[in-house]
Amino acid sequence: MEAKHCIIIGSGPAGYTAAIYAARANMNPLLFTGAEPGGQLMITTEVENFPGYPKGVHGPVLMEDLQKQAERFGTEIRYERITGVDLNGPLHKLWTESGEILHTHSVIIATGASAKWLGLESEKRLLNKGVSACAVCDGFFFKGMDVAVVGGGDTAAEEASYLSKLCTKVHLLVRKDYMRASKIMQERVQNTPNITIHWNTETVEIKGDQEVDAVHINNVLTNEKSTIPVKAFFVAIGHSPNSQPFNGWLDMDEQMYLKTIAGTSRTNRDGVFACGDVQDRVYRQAVTAAGSGCMAALDAERYLTASGIL
Ligand code: NDP
Repeated sequence: MEAKHCIIIGSGPAGYTAAIYAARANMNPLLFTGAEPGGQLMITTEVENFPGYPKGVHGPVLMEDLQKQAERFGTEIRYERITGVDLNGPLHKLWTESGEILHTHSVIIATGASAKWLGLESEKRLLNKGVSACAVCDGFFFKGMDVAVVGGGDTAAEEASYLSKLCTKVHLLVRKDYMRASKIMQERVQNTPNITIHWNTETVEIKGDQEVDAVHINNVLTNEKSTIPVKAFFVAIGHSPNSQPFNGWLDMDEQMYLKTIAGTSRTNRDGVFACGDVQDRVYRQAVTAAGSGCMAALDAERYLTASGIL
């Protein structure tokens, strides 16, 4: 089989934006959606901060639009996962889950990250009905209400701080007697009057039938149980980048986020580019992912041109 010019792995805002640019640059991109076509936005309801939608847009609708835009310019889409790679180059090899081996001159990795969840049945049942992993996305819907955030890292501190400006009260549930967040974020949280930190606290259950009504908690030191009325429950216990298939091939940080050369989407392998949340532990927004997808396609195009392939 003839080698492809460009294979894009992932179908969130980064992957589809890369596809739009790559297709318009005559790179004939082939995009693999992965196991969760559309990525994290498929589990969000209203997206109000993506520029260009003054009335907001449903996450799944936005992703469908991005897919259509990528297809309009000739992107080929396969609803499959890439399970293995050989990035020794210059021709890169990719294995699909059905066992096919593909060759490509360039690869754009846009596999995203997945929020970590507590694993409670009630958390799954009430997802998008008050349970969320993104305060910036969903906090606005709980303006003037009481909410809870679980976690003790920088993300939890940042989410609690963000929510404190919108919500009446924020209950921060920390499972130990200290927070892992940076000192400055801890101080900010501790000095915000409408944030209450519940130390040594685990979540037993999120209460509610059609929507979140309360959270049932347990103090792990005293075994004292209590119920706090809240309308939303934000899980902020970290994200995992979906970088497993590239382990051993690409430089990663200690949490397995792919490393890119600053100001570019280039990885440590020629012809291999990364964009979106798989290489971004800080911003993690749809619009920043889309922007980095554009960068990856432009970097790939320049690479193919410089190599005499395009
Ligand atoms: P972290 O891994 O740093 O923290 C996760 C937190 O969640 C910890 O407090 C952990 O508790 C807690 N936790 C994990 N599992 C559970 C569970 N099952 N139940 C209850 N609590 C749980 O993740 P973050 O997303 O906060 O941060 C990831 C990285 O990104 C960090 O390096 C952080 O500094 C960085 N970051 C930087 C930002 C910035 O600079 N603006 C913003 C956001 C993140 P425990 O401590 O007990 O393990």
